[in-house]
Amino acid sequence: MSKPTITILVPVYNEGRNIPKLVSELHAVTAGIDRYDFSLLFVDDGSSDDSVAQIEALAAKDSRIRLLELSRNFGKEIALTAGIDALDCDAVIIMDADLQHPPSYIPQLIDRWEHDSEVVVARRTRIDKQPLARRLGSSVFYKLLNAISDFPMEPGTTDFRLLDREVIDALKSFREKNRMVRGLVDWMGFRRSSIDFAAPERTAGVAGYSYAKLAQLAINSFMSFSLLPLRLAGYLGMFSTMVFGALLLVMGIDKLTGDVFRFSSISFVIVVNALLNGVVLLSIGLVALYIGHIHTEAVDRPLYLVRRKKGPRTHA
Ligand code: UDP
Ligand code: MG
Repeated sequence: MSKPTITILVPVYNEGRNIPKLVSELHAVTAGIDRYDFSLLFVDDGSSDDSVAQIEALAAKDSRIRLLELSRNFGKEIALTAGIDALDCDAVIIMDADLQHPPSYIPQLIDRWEHDSEVVVARRTRIDKQPLARRLGSSVFYKLLNAISDFPMEPGTTDFRLLDREVIDALKSFREKNRMVRGLVDWMGFRRSSIDFAAPERTAGVAGYSYAKLAQLAINSFMSFSLLPLRLAGYLGMFSTMVFGALLLVMGIDKLTGDVFRFSSISFVIVVNALLNGVVLLSIGLVALYIGHIHTEAVDRPLYLVRRKKGPRTHA
């Protein structure tokens, strides 16, 4: 019987200087694990440097290295999606090309998988020399996301993950366009475990994610995992409708009875205006509820996922 297969999936955007080092480190690590057949799938996300040439040169010497070349830069999440769609293996290990996800942790990921985890997440415990703004941004992002989303997302978890075949197949059924792959994986459930790793600095090249791109990613995640931002306008509207409605009532009663407070007519104009603004916001909130429904239908996520495998696991 042939050995179970593990594919290492690496999205690449201008990583020419990192690829040879990554490949040699991966070879060193996987050479010590002979119960699996390893292969390496690079997804080139429209690099403008010599990444493709580097990968092709390595692939010419080693048939276990494959390259999927995207027509232009689509961003890491789409590059990952393209890679996942192309997979046919018993497990995938997703990692960055810049050696910030050290290959030396691969045996631990596999060990957890063998102990029956379907998703093994590598959690970053320390980032050397990340700018403060970035660390702060990341922490605020996770706090907010967790506050508003329906399921927990762990801070510090990365795309450095091992996914079982079951999870890969399930992931292929997600066709939503604005996506964050690790968010989807978190949404999916399955048997999970995590390992900790210390992320070193990126070895060469520059981080492809500018602050603008990160902000875009954050907004996408909020919008795809919660409808709360949509409803906020409605809540605000409900609040001001109630407050100014009550105020108008009090002012009206006062005017009709003793006129103790002597509300000026301009104050009536202001309060009526504020009340109407509240009604408008409330209506926006109502519209948002409908948009929310349309959003859920349009994203067309599977309603539930099933774990098909029964009995002893084949890879164990
Ligand atoms: N990447 C990609 N497309 C992009 C940007 C990045 O495929 O548009 C890849 C990149 O080559 C690397 C991984 O995604 O393998 C993580 O990128 P980076 O190191 O720039 O991000 P960070 O470490 O800041 O999360
Ligand atoms: Mg990086």
